[in-house]
Amino acid sequence: MKITRFPSNPGPAAWEAILPARAPFPVLETDETADWLIIGAGFAGLAAARRLSQARAGDKITVLDALRVGEGPAGRNTGFMIDLPHDLASNDYGGSLDADRATIARNRAAITFAEDMMRDLDLPKGAFQKIGKINGAASAKGMVHNAQYAVHLNALNEPSELLDAKQMREITGSTYYQGGLFTPGTVMLQPALFMRSIAQKLSSNRVTLYEQSAVRALDRVGDMWHARTDRGSVKAPKVILAVNGHAQSFGHFKRRLVHVYTYGSMTKRFPNDALSGTANWGLTPADPLGSTVRRISDPNGTRLIVRNRFTYEPDMSVSPAKLNRIWRTHDDSFKARFPDLKDIEIEHRWGGHLCLSLNNVPAFGEVDVGLFSACCQNGLGTVQGTLGGMMAADLATGHQSRLLRELLQLNAPSKLPPRPIATLGARARLLWGEKKAGVEL
Ligand SMILES: Cc1cc2nc3c(=O)[nH]c(=O)nc-3n(C[C@H](O)[C@H](O)[C@H](O)COP(=O)(O)OP(=O)(O)OC[C@H]3O[C@@H](n4cnc5c(N)ncnc54)[C@H](O)[C@@H]3O)c2cc1C
Repeated sequence: MKITRFPSNPGPAAWEAILPARAPFPVLETDETADWLIIGAGFAGLAAARRLSQARAGDKITVLDALRVGEGPAGRNTGFMIDLPHDLASNDYGGSLDADRATIARNRAAITFAEDMMRDLDLPKGAFQKIGKINGAASAKGMVHNAQYAVHLNALNEPSELLDAKQMREITGSTYYQGGLFTPGTVMLQPALFMRSIAQKLSSNRVTLYEQSAVRALDRVGDMWHARTDRGSVKAPKVILAVNGHAQSFGHFKRRLVHVYTYGSMTKRFPNDALSGTANWGLTPADPLGSTVRRISDPNGTRLIVRNRFTYEPDMSVSPAKLNRIWRTHDDSFKARFPDLKDIEIEHRWGGHLCLSLNNVPAFGEVDVGLFSACCQNGLGTVQGTLGGMMAADLATGHQSRLLRELLQLNAPSKLPPRPIATLGARARLLWGEKKAGVEL
């Protein structure tokens, strides 16, 4: 299978750009044989590498990524590793109680796995902070969403705390929010630091990671898979495909994956005392199509990040004109929340590719002999990608568990309608949803 479409994410990877430069991982320039090949070094790929290295001590594992580690979507997200149901297609993020209990168990298994990596691989503390998150409400409708979500969480026996406008101001330094709902179990990542640190700590004589090494062809030859890059190749009997929406570029789940982009802007670093409130917080919007906002601070200063807008891009790239419109929305969202910071410049603006399925399920399982897919994370790849990578490794090594059985029992991603209808439908739905989000955007 010849691959003709490769990752394209607009703008710089801001979280990587604010870190000190690191030594590069090598580019693949030789012909190698390994026990395992993992394609993709995001949450799914690195979780699979970690799980395999634990389960198969002694096996040789090769990981290939088209980009630099931390520069793909795994290093471009807003860093919310959310333990609770967070269905972006639902009005209040929740589903049925039983389904939500299962989701929580899966999300927490992924968080525990990440927590174990933090401890066992001695990752830097700033990469992973379990500080919870707030669902911020800027409108009466948002307040109702939060109240309903709190009732739903209560029925699930999950702790949450409703916050009033004064408490929101004391935390965020902004008078924009009428209220919020705090939930304690979310981990806030510095996503690029998390990804690069895992990659560095996993690399050994058994796990070899090559970056800027896009797989251009993947074929089954005899009982081996044969992956070719521009300057080298890897042969392996078993492959884990951890390329998110690019599963389609490898010929799998055709017309079943929805390619969406979402976007972030990050301010320059400014003095901590220019904004009141607490030093580090993360806020998701009461309406799923509203704005996510984060503050990150250290003794040297503060940055604010806003993420909003989703666009449907079946060709997996975004036009510059569209990006300009999105940056204007970001500026408006910043100004509305932090009018006193109008002189603080935006330093980085970027977008990243997400994969959704119509029925909100992953593209998971053995898709060909010895080829395992851990793809399509429905916009929540910090947890769902981690879990997908862990479970793909378990499936490939024959390790049974309840979580794996649950994943295997999920339906396959549903088929999309013909392309013009899918495009019109998805774009209209997103625009209408964003309009309805009103001041939550
Ligand atoms: C702005 C933004 C904010 C987000 N915020 C959040 C958030 O707060 N919380 C959350 O849970 N999720 C968030 N997401 C979504 C999250 O980033 C993704 O769901 C997650 O990165 C998916 O993980 P993954 O490992 O499955 O795939 P990816 O991170 O997409 O990794 C796949 C890798 O495969 C590589 N690849 C593709 N094709 C090839 C090839 N031919 N050869 C070699 N390598 C290849 C890519 O380069 C890439 O590195 C956000 C995304 C964006 C863009």
